[in-house]
Amino acid sequence: MMRQLAILGGGCAALTLAVKASAMPDMRITVIEHPDFAKAQDHNWGCWAVEGMQNAHQMARKTWHRWAINTEKKAVVQSAQHFPYMAISSAAWKGHCRITAKRQGVEFRSARVSQINQDQTGFNLIADQPLPACHQIADSRTPDIPQGIMLQHFRGIEILAENPVFDPDCAVLMDFRCDQSRGIHFIYILPYSPHQALIESTIFSPQTEDDAFYDDAITRYCDDIIKTGKRQVLRREAGVIPMGFLTQRDDRLDAIGGNGGAIRPSSGYAFTFIQRQIDEAMLHYQQRGVLRFTSPHQRIDLWMDKVFLAVLRHRPDLAPTLFSHVASALHGDEMALFMSGLANYRIRLKIIMAMPKWPFFRALFSGSGQRV
Ligand SMILES: Cc1cc2nc3c(=O)[nH]c(=O)nc-3n(C[C@H](O)[C@H](O)[C@H](O)COP(=O)(O)OP(=O)(O)OC[C@H]3O[C@@H](n4cnc5c(N)ncnc54)[C@H](O)[C@@H]3O)c2cc1C
Repeated sequence: MMRQLAILGGGCAALTLAVKASAMPDMRITVIEHPDFAKAQDHNWGCWAVEGMQNAHQMARKTWHRWAINTEKKAVVQSAQHFPYMAISSAAWKGHCRITAKRQGVEFRSARVSQINQDQTGFNLIADQPLPACHQIADSRTPDIPQGIMLQHFRGIEILAENPVFDPDCAVLMDFRCDQSRGIHFIYILPYSPHQALIESTIFSPQTEDDAFYDDAITRYCDDIIKTGKRQVLRREAGVIPMGFLTQRDDRLDAIGGNGGAIRPSSGYAFTFIQRQIDEAMLHYQQRGVLRFTSPHQRIDLWMDKVFLAVLRHRPDLAPTLFSHVASALHGDEMALFMSGLANYRIRLKIIMAMPKWPFFRALFSGSGQRV
């Protein structure tokens, strides 16, 4: 019997699932996008080319085998032999998934869903136009972000600089040589050539800033730290990613993507985890004939993230030292595995040993139970 699957939302997780349609021969799939949620601007997904990321790796705009974490005191450069960092254009990825899914028979509908009713056979979607009744709903709509949780917020520009100041072989994941007065603040650079790079001002804090704050930080960094000379702005990107533990929008539905807990709480990275969440659901489908979505994170990682976030919240001043210590303690490939949720106990132990102990003991016994 054919089963109807509705996918709510048309972002990263929705399209990553839709593109697997041909592997679900007994599913009729409809992606339902809300017309009022404007198409997201093109931006980069940065992540590591670890196992399971081959498709994304093939589409990467650029990869880097070296990356740096800089503080006022120290510059740490990590080198990876096996798992480079990479940047994927969100527009290119989504466009590819959309075209491929359509070829596989996935239907795309634009509709305002106002209510979802459930009965013994499945779900009825009440919308501004008729939609097919469905047996299962994969819900990728953005979950509510609780007030006061830690956010990763950023604004960036891709520039062409007068001076050849960028090392195109080395990404800068964090450069803390910027104003630390509003939270944990760093500059992120994806260099595409000696003259061209994406430069972002990124802050971890519970509240976003006026656009001028990020823009000013980038200007100061370009003028005073790396001395780009004149700059031509090619494009802009901005975002706010919740760092913490979110509740899915509707617990009757199957939550996927950010709504399904795929965002790594301590880093805001999600692309890799979305791919893993969907791959694991597909494996379950192949083995048991049922699509089942689970958290793509290991429990131990979520626990470590909770403690780490509690430390960052209570001691943001320690952030440059903490990140720099982690980078010094690990090889590039180990860092890639840890950030991608694939670390083994030896890597985790190295990280624990690299941390200053007192703030973590405090977080363990007081802060980590609180909302982060
Ligand atoms: C600018 C930016 C840069 C990022 N960079 C990185 C990065 O470098 N690396 C990384 O790993 N992660 C990154 N992330 C985080 C994460 O990878 C992305 O947010 C990713 O798009 C999450 O996928 P998703 O499918 O869960 O959500 P989305 O891609 O946001 O999709 C949600 C979908 O639901 C729809 N929707 C939302 N609310 C409603 C509603 N109420 N009703 C109906 N539809 C709704 C939206 O229109 C959208 O189609 C970034 C995020 C942003 C915003």
